[in-house]
Amino acid sequence: MESLPIPRLRLRVTATAETLIRAGHPWLFADSVRAANRPGRLGELAVLFDRHDKFLALGLFDPESPIRVRVLHTGKPATIDPAWWQGRLKQTLARREGLFDAQTNGYRCINGESDGWPGLVLDRYDRTFVLKLYTVAWLPRLDEVVGCIRAALHPPRLVLRLSRNIQALAKERFCRDDGELLFGEKPDGPVTFLESGLRFEADVRQGQKTGFFLDQRENRRCVESLARGRDVLNAFSFSGGFSLYAARGGAKSVTDLDLSAHALAGARRNFALNQAVPGVAACRHDCVRADAFAWLAAKPARKFDLIVLDPPSLAKREAERARAIGAYRQLNADGLRWLAPGGVLVAASCSAHVSTEEFFGAVRQAARANGRPFAEWQTTSHAPDHPATFPEAQYLKAIYLRLG
Ligand code: SAH
Repeated sequence: MESLPIPRLRLRVTATAETLIRAGHPWLFADSVRAANRPGRLGELAVLFDRHDKFLALGLFDPESPIRVRVLHTGKPATIDPAWWQGRLKQTLARREGLFDAQTNGYRCINGESDGWPGLVLDRYDRTFVLKLYTVAWLPRLDEVVGCIRAALHPPRLVLRLSRNIQALAKERFCRDDGELLFGEKPDGPVTFLESGLRFEADVRQGQKTGFFLDQRENRRCVESLARGRDVLNAFSFSGGFSLYAARGGAKSVTDLDLSAHALAGARRNFALNQAVPGVAACRHDCVRADAFAWLAAKPARKFDLIVLDPPSLAKREAERARAIGAYRQLNADGLRWLAPGGVLVAASCSAHVSTEEFFGAVRQAARANGRPFAEWQTTSHAPDHPATFPEAQYLKAIYLRLG
């Protein structure tokens, strides 16, 4: 018997979801599906219809995620074929044209939903590219996506990273491993790359995110411009990103503070990699391995002229939001006590569940409670290679204060 072709997966969505999707929101939640013509399969293309049964959008279906469909396309119906993917990638890369010169070969090429690639990130570290997936819905078409990236970017090496919550399923259903080399030569050591002319290591196969916090580049550049002659404390330093910029900017000393010995070892290697830079060679570099919350809560043993506080996300889910705001207030209040007169605080938050205003409010409150007069210099948000086009994507914010 001849088997009939499987009909397209067609979903009717609620009026609220329709409004959100029309406004550019890229997620359709499971409870916003009103009707389906059949059960959907992981990673297939779903066609969404509005309340008048008119075409609304196309997206990647995931039967197991509360985000049931990740929208790829809205507007007029389209055929998603290899040419469509190539066009999408071309647009994405065009957004980065002119952003970086040869001094920066580590940056984000694709930033998920906000670039039209829901749940997919592509970072470049010189000749090594890292593809990170946050949904298994991409895995059935991994070869197609990789082919598209190869055709447009010719990366010599591509590494696959999988967010923690999809690793088990990716292994079981698709035999894919976090950190696996998709093609190119196996790296014979850590990958190095340039950011604003500074050389850094990235642990692309096991490190946090895709191996480095590329999202803080613009704040690091600001810190460089503020560092001359100062004693700098970089709390939650990771591999010393802010510290190298501060050193090049003429800091007298830089202290890296992190809980992870591995991160601090990375910071030492990054200082070693940049000894040809006069400011870095001249700067005293200390590492302190400690819980930064406890360390900063203690009685200040000395003062710093510039303090960077860039903790990991303090609210991993919505339920932790209120507690996280309090934790930011406390952390910054403690940090400010270590600041010398005229000193600068750079406070950052990467918690998507804490809004920009909530975070800035917490830091301002901490500054007022400190009692010394303070001036607010600037606030910053996402860098241009990390666009954020919808509220859930807006996680990064920083505020710069100078204390009298
Ligand atoms: N500012 C860094 C990124 C920070 S990521 C950069 O620009 O690259 C957060 C860092 O905080 C990680 O290195 C992690 O090891 C560290 N960390 C997490 N909890 C900590 C704690 N309680 N005390 C000190 N460091 C901590």
